[in-house]
Amino acid sequence: MLTRFAPSPTGYLHFGHALAAREAFDFAAKQGGSCLLRIEDIDHTRCRPAFIDAIYEDLAWLGFSWPTPVRVQSEHLSDYASVIEALREKDLIYRCYKTRRELPNGPYFGPNKPLSKTEEDAFPSVAKPFAWRLSMAAAKTALGENFTVQYYDNDVLKSSDPSRHGNIVLARKDIGTSYHIAVTHDDHIQGISHIVRGRDLSDQTDIHVLIQRLMGWDTPRYYHHGLLMGDDGKKLSKRNFDTTIRSLRAAGKTPKHVFDMVSSGVIR
Ligand code: GLU
Repeated sequence: MLTRFAPSPTGYLHFGHALAAREAFDFAAKQGGSCLLRIEDIDHTRCRPAFIDAIYEDLAWLGFSWPTPVRVQSEHLSDYASVIEALREKDLIYRCYKTRRELPNGPYFGPNKPLSKTEEDAFPSVAKPFAWRLSMAAAKTALGENFTVQYYDNDVLKSSDPSRHGNIVLARKDIGTSYHIAVTHDDHIQGISHIVRGRDLSDQTDIHVLIQRLMGWDTPRYYHHGLLMGDDGKKLSKRNFDTTIRSLRAAGKTPKHVFDMVSSGVIR
């Protein structure tokens, strides 16, 4: 059994990360498996290399250890490009030149559909940035009844029609790929059997399973853990995220203090 903890280096680790890391590492330990660390830094607009070193340092201080080398996604952008290329060859994706302002809120199915080879060849002359969107209609035709995806979420068999998300972007204009492609590709090549992550990602799981179906990859079992709350009983506020693991360490707190706070479920 293999799982992973996959933080994005957009800032210093905070209580939410301590919880997520503990969930993943403990899950592996209880099952006699192991937990990889993966750095999800494809979004160069938000990630900073300095935060990667800080992740290693803070996780080690918290008491975690992981196999090396660690997979750092920004070193593997050509892998994600080849997934996009494979989906293109299957006529499942199409270019979208729309700007954010031109797009409606909520699921979007426009403005194009996958093109034939000849039509596609006419496109490169358009020198405008574009995103690749997945055509849900084409995916449905390709998969037939398997389009309604099924997967285990916290040991319950779930069934979902992923077209509820609309024709999602699989390669962003600015980074040439997407979280969905990078995460499913890496879970596949790293042989992740169990995915342990926060409940904030459970709504995206059917997208991931759809990509696995389209690429012929196995579907891991998913486990979504509860999230920490602020002391008002609501989602953590900006202020809670300002309390970083390293600031607690600098203030002389111990890892035990951090995990006691995390175990209380509520961060003050
Ligand atoms: N990198 C993602 C995050 O930091 C987690 C991805 C996942 O666990 O699937 O939210």
